[in-house]
Amino acid sequence: MAHEPAPDDGAIAIRTAPAAPAEVAAVALWWRAGRLHEGADEAGAAHLLEHLVCDALPRHRVARWGGAVNGQSGREWTVWHALLPATQAPEFIAALAGALAAPLPDAAAIAGETRVLAAERAAAKVRDDWELAALRAAFGDHPLARSLVVAPGAGREVVERFRARLLCRSRLVLTAAGRVDATALRAVAAPLAGLGADAIIEPPPPLLPTVPGRAAITAADGCLWLLPFASAQSAAVETLSDLLAHPLLGRLSRRLRNAPEPGYALHSEIEYAAGIGLWWLWLDQRRAAPVLAEEIETGLECGFSAPELADAAALRSARATLDGADLTGRLAVLAGARPALAETLPTAATLVATLAGCWGRRVQVEGGAPA
Ligand SMILES: [Zn+2]
Repeated sequence: MAHEPAPDDGAIAIRTAPAAPAEVAAVALWWRAGRLHEGADEAGAAHLLEHLVCDALPRHRVARWGGAVNGQSGREWTVWHALLPATQAPEFIAALAGALAAPLPDAAAIAGETRVLAAERAAAKVRDDWELAALRAAFGDHPLARSLVVAPGAGREVVERFRARLLCRSRLVLTAAGRVDATALRAVAAPLAGLGADAIIEPPPPLLPTVPGRAAITAADGCLWLLPFASAQSAAVETLSDLLAHPLLGRLSRRLRNAPEPGYALHSEIEYAAGIGLWWLWLDQRRAAPVLAEEIETGLECGFSAPELADAAALRSARATLDGADLTGRLAVLAGARPALAETLPTAATLVATLAGCWGRRVQVEGGAPA
């Protein structure tokens, strides 16, 4: 860190440090196995297994790697990742490969881990309730519309069966960013390459709704919109999300802030699962929903201005730079968990056409206590 002399002219002190040290690596092992792939009696098996694998990592090594090791399990992917000294990356992958294939702990240990999951579930339940209402309204009984925060009733045999069925080499992707030795990584990952080939048939992508849908839940005041889209439209939808809902640049955010009754908290998030994209728009106040709807209708009628499109292009270019430094951010793209964005920005006409498609199939979920 460079230290400037203490200022004596009233200026603030500035300290600088070089960014993105080359000795750091971000490594992740992606497994295409999640809630989508669980059988009727396997609910929660992917999440439970994710925890059991983390627990099976040797503690003294986790300490040596820096402790920034974690796992996540979602709708269709389970991932274990670490941000660690680059020289430790092969050891991490070797330990992970071992833990993933190791015999499961006894029933008591599994029951203990199930209680850990119960605490996590409580924390995530509110969000899950909202999303589930939207997903069910959009996709009915497709496996995409499953609750993520399930109580794993799964015993040892069930977890074992789930793992045996889905742990195959074609479902695994290893990603690494930073100064890592790819040959060493490949060598330590060899046991995973020896796993059988995939015989699983993925559920087909759900059909996109053709008309708007609505749902209501008993929850705090708020409104959630789900705008499903074909993943081939990802570049246009990600641009639309910036144009409309970026917290500082987006039209909707500005409009909501200036509304007579400000509905300030708008949150936009894009997710990819089951072969399609899910654009989530959250509002913390239901009465702001008409403002949001009106602004989208304006976008459909009038399109987007040249300065707005220039801002979107600048934003994308800056993000490309940031992605180079944000090692972990790139991993999702590397793993194919979300589509890589096209080099060129979608045209204004494509944006309007995409927005019209998304808007025509929106699902609106309203929250509020029952009257
Ligand atoms: Zn968890």
